Amino acid sequence: MHQVAVVGVTGAVGTEILRVMDRRGFPVAGLRALASERSAGQRLTFRGEEVAIEAATEGSFQGIDLAFFSAGATRSRKLVPAASGAGAIVVDNSSAFRMDPTIPLIVPEINGGSLDAAAPIVANPNCVAAILTMAVGPLTKIGTLKRVVVSTYQSASGAGARAMDDLIVQTHDSLAGRPLVPKVLKHPYAFNLFSHDSDVEANLYNAEENKVVAETRKILDLPNLPLSVTCVRVPVLRAHSMSVNIEFEEAVTPALAMEALQSTAGIKLVDDHENNHYPMPLEASGKDDVFVGRVRRDPSCPTALNLFVCGDQLLKGAALNAVQIAEMLVGRA
Ligand code: NAP
Repeated sequence: MHQVAVVGVTGAVGTEILRVMDRRGFPVAGLRALASERSAGQRLTFRGEEVAIEAATEGSFQGIDLAFFSAGATRSRKLVPAASGAGAIVVDNSSAFRMDPTIPLIVPEINGGSLDAAAPIVANPNCVAAILTMAVGPLTKIGTLKRVVVSTYQSASGAGARAMDDLIVQTHDSLAGRPLVPKVLKHPYAFNLFSHDSDVEANLYNAEENKVVAETRKILDLPNLPLSVTCVRVPVLRAHSMSVNIEFEEAVTPALAMEALQSTAGIKLVDDHENNHYPMPLEASGKDDVFVGRVRRDPSCPTALNLFVCGDQLLKGAALNAVQIAEMLVGRA
């Protein structure tokens, strides 16, 4: 049994971490619920017991064995050293340490074998990178990747609990004919879509796109993989979708790809041509599995396949993956 701290416990990911630990029977002896000053003093219920939320500080980690961080990179940079210094194993959901070469970046089904169970800090990937590598990782066993092109359709929950509220309010406002007032993301969101809200960087790709490229290469251990990513926010509440074009060195048949996908834990193949039923964010929401389908040849390139992928980014893209990592670290997986 473990003394567990969750930093960012009131957020979209923190809330899911509690739910996932509960339903997977993670051995929690005690929970320290940490968030900002704004939430301090509020209470939450975990496994039938009330827990008071505290403001996270450097002193919050005495007696903690395992700390999940889910409160943004700034908080992680400030507080992870304190948690680690107090002897806690850290699973960090933020981008703070993901590209640090000394820190493992793990999707258990894909590169879990490389995880040293004694690692003091483990990074949880960006949600798109986690879902993408779930779909692409199994295909590296049947062919050599030459190039991957990805376009995403990302939901509101990827931007946190307040962005979900914003989408709901704007949808009501739009249907009632009221003006849309964006509060969290910059642009009108209801019945609209726009380029991902992260900052546009010097290469004219946004930070999300650059993270997906770098992290996918690190998880797949293919540091030079040519990868082109376009990230778009769509008015879906939960679960990210992506169209993925994968070019191999040699032709790979859709049948072989589907076999490789189907035999990977954590993937559900949804590929029903007769009923035109393929992965959808509504069906992937709340599910642990990453849904993969529309596996078909690319008519413009004889060695390429197209896929469509949906995954609940609060689960496989965040909380579930984090708890799976913790299970590996405490020897339960
Ligand atoms: P969110 O819903 O906005 O929640 C943010 C959490 O951080 C809240 O619990 C908030 O507490 C806490 N927080 C804010 N400022 C703080 C401070 N100064 N000290 C301590 N806690 C503070 O965000 P989220 O979507 O859960 O994302 C959290 C982290 O997970 C981010 O690093 C994000 O990049 C990462 N992540 C998110 C997803 C996703 O799909 N959403 C996927 C992968 C990774 P209050 O309620 O008190 O403000």
